[in-house]
Amino acid sequence: AVPHSTHTHRSTCSYCGVGCGILVQQDARGKLHVKGDPDHPVNRGMLCSKGMNLHYVVSDQQDRMLYPQLRASRQHPLERVSWDTALTRAAAVFKSLIRQYGPDSVGFYVSGQCLTEEYYLVNKLTKGFLGTNNIDTNSRLCMSSAVAGYVKALGEDSVPISYEDIELADCFFIAGANPAWCHPILFRRIEQRKEQHPAMKMIVVDPRRTQTCQMADLHLQIRPGTDTIVYQAIGRALIENGDIDLHFIQHHTDGFETYRDEVMQTTLEEAAAHCDVPVEDIRLAARYIAESKGFITMWAMGLNQSAQGVNKNLALLNLNLITGHIGKPGSGPFSLTGQPNAMGGREVGGMSSLLAAHRNLLNPAHRDEVARFWGVEKISEKPGLTATQMFDALRDGRMKAVWIVCTNPLVSLPDARLADEALKNARFVVVQDISNRSDTAKYADLVLPAAGWLEKEGTMTNSERRITYLPKVVEAPGEALPDAEIFCRFARKMGYSGFDFPDQAAVYAEHCALTQGTNIDISGLSYDVLKTQGSVQWPVPSPGHGGTPRLFTDRQFYTPNQRAQILPSGAQNASEHVSPDFPLVLTTGRVRDQWHTMTRTGKVRKLGQHRPTPFLEIHPDDARQRDIQHGDTVVVRNLRGEVRVHAHISGDIKRGVVFLPMHWGKILNRDFGRANNLTNNVVDPVSKEPDFKFSAVEVERY
Ligand code: SF4
Repeated sequence: AVPHSTHTHRSTCSYCGVGCGILVQQDARGKLHVKGDPDHPVNRGMLCSKGMNLHYVVSDQQDRMLYPQLRASRQHPLERVSWDTALTRAAAVFKSLIRQYGPDSVGFYVSGQCLTEEYYLVNKLTKGFLGTNNIDTNSRLCMSSAVAGYVKALGEDSVPISYEDIELADCFFIAGANPAWCHPILFRRIEQRKEQHPAMKMIVVDPRRTQTCQMADLHLQIRPGTDTIVYQAIGRALIENGDIDLHFIQHHTDGFETYRDEVMQTTLEEAAAHCDVPVEDIRLAARYIAESKGFITMWAMGLNQSAQGVNKNLALLNLNLITGHIGKPGSGPFSLTGQPNAMGGREVGGMSSLLAAHRNLLNPAHRDEVARFWGVEKISEKPGLTATQMFDALRDGRMKAVWIVCTNPLVSLPDARLADEALKNARFVVVQDISNRSDTAKYADLVLPAAGWLEKEGTMTNSERRITYLPKVVEAPGEALPDAEIFCRFARKMGYSGFDFPDQAAVYAEHCALTQGTNIDISGLSYDVLKTQGSVQWPVPSPGHGGTPRLFTDRQFYTPNQRAQILPSGAQNASEHVSPDFPLVLTTGRVRDQWHTMTRTGKVRKLGQHRPTPFLEIHPDDARQRDIQHGDTVVVRNLRGEVRVHAHISGDIKRGVVFLPMHWGKILNRDFGRANNLTNNVVDPVSKEPDFKFSAVEVERY
């Protein structure tokens, strides 16, 4: 329990995009205590296992980076230096590379865990002052397909609904997501809805029978890569049964006729055979949707992390659009954000393809507007490199230096050997992080210690567009500094003006001012408002506005003609093909109690108890064919690499499919269970999000 003796701080969990409110106290002995905030609109006092153990992560400082370290060359060890020496050196290297090779020879790779102010500053620094759009984020590995889907269909990267719609819905369509494990508090709200409204229906689409499926009324256990076909088949069934909203389609959308022609090309029987699900189940899914008054589609990485991620998003969004289930209570599409501030990062334009406040980098008027605001001559018209492109460019020498902030690409990028080669080949690698458990740090020429959660102030935006202020509660250890302070000091070393902020409130005010007049206008927000009134959902266009829980209630979309676009989504699987040599499909994902590359959750013994080691989930028939017993060490391999791991035989996974968790990395485990040895660097052509969910592999006993 949180003691009553000291001041209580209200903060937000720093893990997933659900954005649960947390109460934090430090007792007289300096010990931290956390518990769920009972007054927070997201979690109403609940926390999952990761959130409940956050104080251990802050308190255990064994692995913390404490002071800047620099090496003279790759042959020399890292040595402790002062902040001044560290940033003088960084500025000298960046200036020299830009002079010699141009601004596109450098870049920043940041994180959906950065605070909005940090994101704003590094984006301003890169695009406004360094003169390159080479800034991308690990959100590219997470939400970029959903972003592109929203922009194409609705005109803007805009999640239309609120968590409160969960309590108003009576049909949930959960695709490529396991919220019971990965968004647990949000899932708890769905469970509560079911308890209160037993007639509610849940349809889950997933090649694995996950924890989420235990509550499902219908599980469509599709063949990997066939998502689009099953959504189109459901669309066809809805059209054939007359269960579509013709008034909405006629008055508020474009493209229905083309969509209808596309879905009519495949019979339900053909689709069922292709997806390997019973045709009756496709009809039943359509019936559940047709009978609902409130219909929510939810999805996560199963759709986004795909070579056809944008098309999968469009195919799912189309189910909301043809039934008119958008912009009204209890209805709408709802992408589940993986990281706590992926959305805040997009708001400030913190990706290579974006500009501040969702402006378009390719639009000259938008570039001029932002350049004028920042007081710079221009913003480069050349699109920046995305996450995997940046590492390709480091590998082939087009990029010389990369500054990596709060992310561990050596473990998280697809085809790990490519990330290895890229960082080996780079001339200068800066790693700005809190933990020396980051595998990427071994390639650093310069290590910069950053402050972590509770050690700095700022804001974040969760999956439902809710912006929350996070206060500084404790001092950072050693010489660690907030990321925002590091960016400002570096900018000043480079000789740039515009980075002398008295505090983070001033950074936030500048960001808010830049949103004025846009669809994500938060010019009515400030630190004072957030501190006194609590969290709020954008847009907030004027002081005292109170926020916007639901978008498109007037059925006016953000497209040029204000009509939603029902777009064809194709059905071609662009992933690599299975073959006699590599006949199984590998898919990767999370386990319940771990987070990303485990630099934080890996420190908490309690969180390791649920799944202490990496494992390969394999169907009993596939195991039997290969003479594999439960618990055997097996080798999973393909042409990109191999992984040793223990076999976990389970009827929960579809025959022909195997699953590896994505958390375990190289240094800690000597390649044991390192899933990204096997994943493919191929990306979606529009979103550039990698195809983590479909790699052809073979498995054998070790
Ligand atoms: Fe944190 Fe997400 Fe768990 Fe909430 S559901 S406590 S935000 S990890």
